[in-house]
Amino acid sequence: MANDSRALGVFDTKPYDREYLTAAATGTRWEVKFHDFRLEEDTVLSATGCSAVCVFVNDVADRKVLEKLAALGVGHLALRCAGFNNVDLAAARDAGIVVTRVPGYSPHAVAEHTAALLLALNRKIHRAFNRVRELNFSLHGLVGFDLHGKTAGLIGTGRTGRLFAEILRGFKMRVLLYDIHPDEAWARANGMDYVPLEELLAQSDVVSLHAPLTPQTRHLINARSLAAMKQGVVILNVSRGALIDTVALIAALKTGHVAGVALDVYEEEEGVFFEDLSGEVLMDDVLARLLTFPNVLITAHQAFLTREALLEISRVTIENVLRVASGRSPVEGTLL
Ligand code: NAD
Repeated sequence: MANDSRALGVFDTKPYDREYLTAAATGTRWEVKFHDFRLEEDTVLSATGCSAVCVFVNDVADRKVLEKLAALGVGHLALRCAGFNNVDLAAARDAGIVVTRVPGYSPHAVAEHTAALLLALNRKIHRAFNRVRELNFSLHGLVGFDLHGKTAGLIGTGRTGRLFAEILRGFKMRVLLYDIHPDEAWARANGMDYVPLEELLAQSDVVSLHAPLTPQTRHLINARSLAAMKQGVVILNVSRGALIDTVALIAALKTGHVAGVALDVYEEEEGVFFEDLSGEVLMDDVLARLLTFPNVLITAHQAFLTREALLEISRVTIENVLRVASGRSPVEGTLL
C-alpha cells in the first residue's frame, strides 16, 4: 500500500535539478528531499517516508529496488528523463508502483546538441579551440568536409530524430531514415526517404542514432554493422551508450574505417558521466582509449541540458507527483 505522505525523494541530483525542481514544487506543500547519490539497492532506504521517488538515467530501478520501494510505501516512480531502459516495468507493475517519465521535454535541446556535435567534430572546433589558446594558429590537420550534398542516415525518427533530420535538410544534406515505425507522410513532406537499415549503413556519410535502448537496439552498431558502413563514416550517438559496441567502435577507429565519432552517451557512463573525476584515476580503460582519439568528441550526457528542458522536466514531474498522489491520471503520454 502506498503511504500518503507528501514527501518526494529525488535521487542523483545536481545543483540544476535542485534549482528547477524546488521552483516547480514551490506552493505545493510537498517536501522535496534531494539526494546526490543514485537510487540503488544500497540507497533505497533513503526513500523511507516518501510516497513518491524521482530518478534520472543512471539510477537503478530493478526488481529488488522496486520491491523495497513498494515495501516502504512508495507508490510512484517519476523519471525526470525520456529513456526508461533502467526501469524493470514488469516488476513495477507487480509491485503496484506507477511509473511516469517526461517523454518530450525538449526534443529541440537534444536535436540541437546533436547538430553542435556534428559541426564541432567535422570542423574540428574542439582541436582548434585548444590550439588557438596556445597561440598555435596552424591549420594543419583541421580539414573538414561540406555537409551540403552529403548523405546522413538517421536510425530512429521519433521526437529527436525527426527534428535533427529537419536541421540536416537545412544544410541541404540528403537524409535517409530507418525506423521500425516509419512516418512516411512526414518523410515525404520533408524530402527524405525511409530505406532498409543495410542501405542506410552503406550509403551514409554520417550515421546518427536516435532510437531507444531496447533488447533489439543493444549493440546495433557492432563489428558487422560498422563494416557495412562507408569508409570514412562519421557516427553520432546522443541516444543511449549501449546502442554501440564500444570495443568494436575503437577497432574501426584504429583502422580509419570510421573517420569520426561524437558521443553524448557511453555504455558504461554510470558513475562517470555527471561527476567531476578530474582529480582521480580513470578506471575505465575503454573510455580512456576513446579519449585518446583526436577524432572522437565526447560530451557527458548533456544533450538535454537547456533551460527550457529543465523547466519542462520539473513542471511535468511535479504535476505528475500531485496527480498520482491524488488518484488522478498522469499528464498525457507520460505513463509507462
Ligand atoms: P522517441 O520515443 O520519440 O523516438 C524513438 C524512435 O525510435 C521511435 O520512432 C521508435 O519507433 C524508434 N525505434 C524503436 N526501436 C527501434 C529499432 N529497433 N530500430 C529503429 N528505430 C527504432 O524518442 P526520442 O525522444 O527521439 O529519444 C530517443 C532516445 O534518445 C531516448 O530513448 C533516450 O534514450 C535518448 N535521449 C537522450 C537524451 C540526452 O540527453 N542525451 C535526451 C533525450 C533522449
